[in-house]
Amino acid sequence: MRSLSVLGSTGSIGTQTLDVARKHNIKVAAITANKNVKLLEKQAREFKPSLVCIGDESLYKELKTALADTSVEVTCGSDGVLKAAAHSQCDLVVNSIVGIAGLLPTLTAINACKDVALANKESLVTGGALVMRAVKEKGVKILPVDSEHSAIFQCMQGCKQSEVKKIILTCSGGPFFNYTSKQLENVTKEQALKHPNWSMGAKITIDSATLMNKGAELIEAVWLFDKRAEDIEIVVHRESVIHSLIELEDNAVLAQLGTPDMHIPIQYAITYPDRFSSQSGRLSLTDYANLTFYKPDYETFKALAACKKAADLGGLYPCAVNCANEQAVKLFLEDKIKFAQIGELVESTLSYKDFGGEYTLNDVLNTDREIREYVKEMSQKR
Ligand code: NDP
Repeated sequence: MRSLSVLGSTGSIGTQTLDVARKHNIKVAAITANKNVKLLEKQAREFKPSLVCIGDESLYKELKTALADTSVEVTCGSDGVLKAAAHSQCDLVVNSIVGIAGLLPTLTAINACKDVALANKESLVTGGALVMRAVKEKGVKILPVDSEHSAIFQCMQGCKQSEVKKIILTCSGGPFFNYTSKQLENVTKEQALKHPNWSMGAKITIDSATLMNKGAELIEAVWLFDKRAEDIEIVVHRESVIHSLIELEDNAVLAQLGTPDMHIPIQYAITYPDRFSSQSGRLSLTDYANLTFYKPDYETFKALAACKKAADLGGLYPCAVNCANEQAVKLFLEDKIKFAQIGELVESTLSYKDFGGEYTLNDVLNTDREIREYVKEMSQKR
């Protein structure tokens, strides 16, 4: 059985990962959070990891005091997170940190020869070339946690990757399915934070409303499954029952279905290639009178269109649209910009400068800084 390091253990994916660990008595060697000291302390007492890290250094003393009666090593800051990513007692790192902050931990885990159960799609969106090169060099596995990529991965078991002609990524359409651009102008934060099918962290919930999330998943799929963007079709499927599909050389199409519950893909990433019983509910197809499928609206959902273009252009374009989105979502959640501006800001990044060509980790980190400044500036001009 695996021993886990759970990065971002207090978030939506992190807590569900610990549900899986609890159910199957899986050892947890390290856990990390950014600010949530209370939950981190509770998790440390229950799972008894060797290492606990709080990202926000100003909260170190509070966590250290809270765990003073235990033997757990308490650490803090980004170095502490990297220590958890490379922890000697873990062999699988579950990266459930949100945003580009997850990239360095992913690279650190891979370089320490750990397999990575990857929820942090931003690792691949911002630094896909670096991550996949490191995976190849170290001979480790990336096990997808995202439900769509897990579905594709599950469908691919027993198939040759070269026989997969096309990937069909399903998309719930979010809370603003069928909205016009005009209608999008007036949507509120409360409406955007209400996803019809999934319960997730705030950032990915907004990304699901702008369809940026699906654009990021397209880029993630390009890297994970070594496909071109044009070989990946996005289909809106309102019920979120079919989690994604693959089309094979002979036109046979395979799909993975299930209730919209992240415990299944999280658990499969941990127990792969084995299957264990799950706390997720069973799917009853007759509960669904219809399964529906539509083409996405690329004109209204500008962030999705921008990701598609960025995937085609390659280089640091995906990184640039990701960082523009992270900054724009932050401004939206702080009530500083309107919902529709998120897509506009992401789209405008594509023509900000030439992001083509090969890149290093420093280029990614510099692009992040530069684009965040650009988005802040642009948002004030509107
Ligand atoms: P949450 O916001 O719920 O959780 C994020 C976790 O990361 C928390 O533990 C948080 O700590 C920690 N964190 C936040 N910022 C930092 C930072 N700068 N450095 C270190 N740790 C940090 O996010 P989700 O669980 O929803 O999403 C996590 C990742 O998984 C995202 O990349 C998302 O796209 C992906 N994903 C999520 C799905 C879902 O169903 N939620 C589905 C598929 C993919 P704290 O609690 O202290 O703030």
